[in-house]
Formats: sequence, structure tokens, C-alpha cells
Amino acid sequence: MFAPDKMQQHIVGSIRQFVERNVIPVASDLEHKDEYPTQIVEGMKELGLFGANVPQEYGGLGLDYTTFAMIIEELSRGWMSVVGPLGTHSVICDIINRFGSEEQRREFLPGLATGERRGGLALSEADAGTDVQRLRTTATRRGDGYIINGSKMWITNGRHGNTFVLAAKTDLKADPPHKGISAFIIEKGHEGFEVARDIDKLGYKGVETCELVFENFFVPAKNLLGGREGDGFKHIMTGLESERINVAARGVGLARAAFEDAIQYAQQRHTFGKPICEHQTIQIKLADMATKIEAARLLVYSAAQKKDRGERCDLEAGMAKLFATESAQEIALEALRIHGGAGYSKDFRVERYYRDAPLLIVGGGTNELQRLIIAKGLVAKYPIK
Ligand SMILES: Cc1cc2nc3c(=O)[nH]c(=O)nc-3n(C[C@H](O)[C@H](O)[C@H](O)COP(=O)(O)OP(=O)(O)OC[C@H]3O[C@@H](n4cnc5c(N)ncnc54)[C@H](O)[C@@H]3O)c2cc1C
Repeated sequence: MFAPDKMQQHIVGSIRQFVERNVIPVASDLEHKDEYPTQIVEGMKELGLFGANVPQEYGGLGLDYTTFAMIIEELSRGWMSVVGPLGTHSVICDIINRFGSEEQRREFLPGLATGERRGGLALSEADAGTDVQRLRTTATRRGDGYIINGSKMWITNGRHGNTFVLAAKTDLKADPPHKGISAFIIEKGHEGFEVARDIDKLGYKGVETCELVFENFFVPAKNLLGGREGDGFKHIMTGLESERINVAARGVGLARAAFEDAIQYAQQRHTFGKPICEHQTIQIKLADMATKIEAARLLVYSAAQKKDRGERCDLEAGMAKLFATESAQEIALEALRIHGGAGYSKDFRVERYYRDAPLLIVGGGTNELQRLIIAKGLVAKYPIK
């Protein structure tokens, strides 16, 4: 059994308190109105969460991946959307910290750590999601910088964010094509960068997901991540490992919320002269739900701890993401079933969990892709003897 240390217990305790006071009471109302959780985000800034994974020398908390996963679980238990402003923000902090030059770290990380700079990852396009090598946005060298043309789709924090890591092709002829992808740190506030629209979604409301359009947008050459063309794909894919741990932890948080609501309801609701938690069918559901949550959490910690040791963890992060998010989807539906008709009503929270869960199986790399990554990792791990 994994036992959090004293520091982790303290951090998790304060985040849980924050979530119970400031998130849970307002989450469903804000979500139904699709309203941005400004006050909650301000509270997260005060807690230093935007700098959670930024090293202390750049003004962050310098937390490890395991502790960060615990924080994400707590926030997601309150409302998955409040993890949105933090999720890809933390991924770009990770990417800049790992692969940026010292000058880039000094320029961008302190502002990202305070939340004054709010980050996002501009990778996907309308025609390039899983098959990201197909992206069409171009970065053409001109003078002391690059000119960006193209558009990006599904960009979380596109409207409220101001600093993004953007993937663009610097070499259209590269073979394989991913060797032609470079990553840039881009900032809003200059001509040629437009937020074209906010996409209306099934769930994950309150946080914006946008289409971004770039027309002759100038980026100084000093903002080429790591200073070398063609390394962008590698940098971003490494960053996506932490995104997968983070998405898996969201799944654990959402599943826990659904389970906690279900087990409360199952003790309050009576049919045939007893609480429904005494009917065997409901007992089996509760037992399966809690077991899956525990297993998912352990997979998340296993991947996060491997990453904390500085090792690649595609296989473990893929397994954690796959199992935790598929479980979250199943547990949200089971919680809805346990609530009977009430589960279909907006008076109860389970309908929100049910609408939020599918994003987890698609975002951060679909679960079909996770299975491919896992299988590839397994074949490498078990070569022919
Ligand atoms: C709410 C939301 C927020 C998002 N936020 C961001 C963000 O901040 N930044 C960002 O860059 N992106 C973001 N995304 C994009 C997300 O990462 C992509 O939607 C995801 O990677 C899937 O890509 P796609 O939508 O193009 O689907 P496709 O790649 O078109 O896939 C369609 C289907 O085909 C399957 N498939 C594709 N290739 C294979 C294969 N080789 N083998 C088996 N099955 C396959 C997929 O699993 C899927 O089921 C977000 C998406 C959503 C919905």
C-alpha cells in the first residue's frame, strides 16, 4: 500500500479543504452556466498551484510528479474543469524547464509560476490530433525570427492564457515528417494571433477550448525551444508523458467524486424496506467502483514515481491513463445508475461527472493511442529470447 509522506499529507489536506470550501459548493452552478471559475483560479494562484512543478529557483514550489498527481486528484474530485487552467499550463512549465535554454527558463518560468503568465499547449489541429506529424502550421525563418501561419484546434486556455508552446513545421520535406516539427514559446499581444472561437462542448464547461489562428505571426528566434529546429516533436512527446499522468489523476478524482456521491445516496435511498446499499446488486457495484479507484490510483503513483526517478515512463503513464480514465467513465455511469432517475437530473452532481468523463478518454492522447503505446513498450520489454 502506498503511504503519502508528511509533506504530501499536509499539501493534500490543504487542497482538499480549498476544494470543499471554494469549489464543490459552486461547481455545478458555474458548470451549468458555462461560466469561467475566476475566483477559484485566483485562489489556485494564491496557493501557488501554477508554479507547482516549477523549480524553486524560478519561483515555483518544485513539487515532484507524485505530489502533483495527488493535487490534481483532489481538484478534479471537486470539479474537473478547475484542473483545465492548470493542466496544459503545467505541461508547458515541464517542457520549458526540461528543454528550454537557461535564458528561456529565466524569461518564462517565474511568470508562469505565479500564474501571471497562463500557459497552454498549441499542438492539435483540425486535421492532426492522434497523427500529429500531419500538422500543417508552418514557421518560416525570416530575419531574426520566424513567421507562423496556420491554425490550431482544441486549445485549452486559448482565451485566458497568454503564453503557449506551439508546434509548427520548420521543414516541410523532413522524412520522417516529425523531424520537421519545432516547438516555439509564443506570447499573445502581437499582430497575427487570433482566438477564432470557443468550442461548445458536452462537458468540461466553464473552461475554454479554442481555435487559434495565426496569420503572419512573428516569433523571435530566441523563442525557438531549446534553440534547435526539428526537436519539437521529441520535446512535446516527452511533455505529454506528464500530461498523461495528470489526465489519469483527473480520472481518479472524478471517479472518487462519483463513488462518494453514490455511496452516500445508497445509504439514504430506501427500496423494499431497506437502504439500497443492502441490496446485493448495489453492493457489488460499490465494491467494484472502489476497487477500480484504488487500482487506478496505484497505477498513477507507479508512473509518477518512475518519472520522479528521471526515467521514461511511456508504458506506465499509458497504462495509468488508460485504466484510470476508462474506470472513471464506467464509475460515472455506475454512480448515475445507483441514483436511479435522480442521476439523470441536474439537481444531482452525477450527471456532470457523466458528461465530463468522456473527455478523459480522448484528451491527452486517445485511449486507442495509449493501447498502441503500451503494446509497443511491451514488445520492447519482452524481446524474443
Ligand atoms: C476538450 C478538449 C480539450 C483539448 N485540449 C487540447 C489542448 O489544450 N492542446 C492540444 O494540442 N490539443 C487538445 N485537445 C485535442 C486532443 O488532444 C485530440 O482531440 C486528441 O488527441 C484526438 O485527436 P483527434 O480529435 O484529431 O482525433 P483523431 O486523431 O482523428 O482520432 C479519431 C479516432 O481514431 C482513432 N485513431 C486514430 N489513429 C489511430 C490508430 N493509429 N490506431 C487506432 N486508432 C486510431 C482515435 O483513437 C479516435 O478514436 C483537446 C481536445 C478536447 C476534446
